[in-house]
Amino acid sequence: VVDTSKRIPEDFIQSLLSRIDIVEVINAVVPLRKAGSNYVACCPFHNEKTPSFSVNKNKQFYHCFGCGVSGDAIQFLIDHNSLSFVEAVELLAGQIGMQVPQSGRNEASVEHNLIYNILSEATVFFEQQLRQQTLAKQAVQYLQDRGLTGLTAKNFRIGFAPPGWSNLLDAIAKDPEKRTAGIKAGLFIKKDANKCYDRFRNRVVFPIRNRRGRVIGFGGRVIDNTVDEPKYLNSPETDVFNKSQELYGFYEARQTIQKLDAVIVVEGYMDVVSLAQAGITNAVATLGTACTEQHVTSLLKTATEITFCFDGDTAGKKAAWRSLELCLPLLDGKNVI
Ligand code: ZN
Repeated sequence: VVDTSKRIPEDFIQSLLSRIDIVEVINAVVPLRKAGSNYVACCPFHNEKTPSFSVNKNKQFYHCFGCGVSGDAIQFLIDHNSLSFVEAVELLAGQIGMQVPQSGRNEASVEHNLIYNILSEATVFFEQQLRQQTLAKQAVQYLQDRGLTGLTAKNFRIGFAPPGWSNLLDAIAKDPEKRTAGIKAGLFIKKDANKCYDRFRNRVVFPIRNRRGRVIGFGGRVIDNTVDEPKYLNSPETDVFNKSQELYGFYEARQTIQKLDAVIVVEGYMDVVSLAQAGITNAVATLGTACTEQHVTSLLKTATEITFCFDGDTAGKKAAWRSLELCLPLLDGKNVI
């Protein structure tokens, strides 16, 4: 294991911590109440009815008298948002416009940024297409037929990939560098040495976001059932998208429920979105893979109860049994239904 914390200079971290305010950082996710010289809340790390989680503005430090957790703003993001040290530093630095020194970032992370950036541009393009493109009518109809409101579509950043082979390509990837990033991001499929085309065509697209809220891939559903194409199409695994780790809807669920005690695991992104529309905002889905040990482990970091909810068909029953077998060794006082 590489200790990535060594790559970011200590003076940068000190300067970052001196410029941010831990009260604001925590208050953004766990609403704090002023009590004397401190700020308090019910602890996000253990179950309680009366607040024993306290944030000290002068010391820029939090401490829970109930479960004993403590630390600075970086530590809070690591524990609360399940981020790595570097991710937490980058998130905080980004919020106040500080640039994490290049020496603190390896080449891989520079390349990852190119991939994240093109995915982010694609997300905006698809969102615009759903709103503006006349051909999106059928896509809008599909979403409306499933009872989704515009707000739900907006919360999940649902978009539309128009029919055609190069809409996205022409819109966001004119230069070769972007084209390369787009191929690495799984947005374009390489045809030959200098030609590529859009992977997602004439589909409703669901951006898949990681725990930090960055788009790492897409799921696409055909809207014209008569075409000879797979009904669902996901981005391939890439440098930033590992299907055995990521769960669709996890970020969105955390936006609504700070303390994700109970999580429902469903089969597809449309299930997640429809449940959210119905007010059940704690559902997540695996992405075209069976539930893995990594999925369960990451869910159990925040949740004390996981409910698996699969279709009643043979495949669903099989998936349910496999998930059960997977969970049993990991339980340790948690509930799985
Ligand atoms: Zn606590």
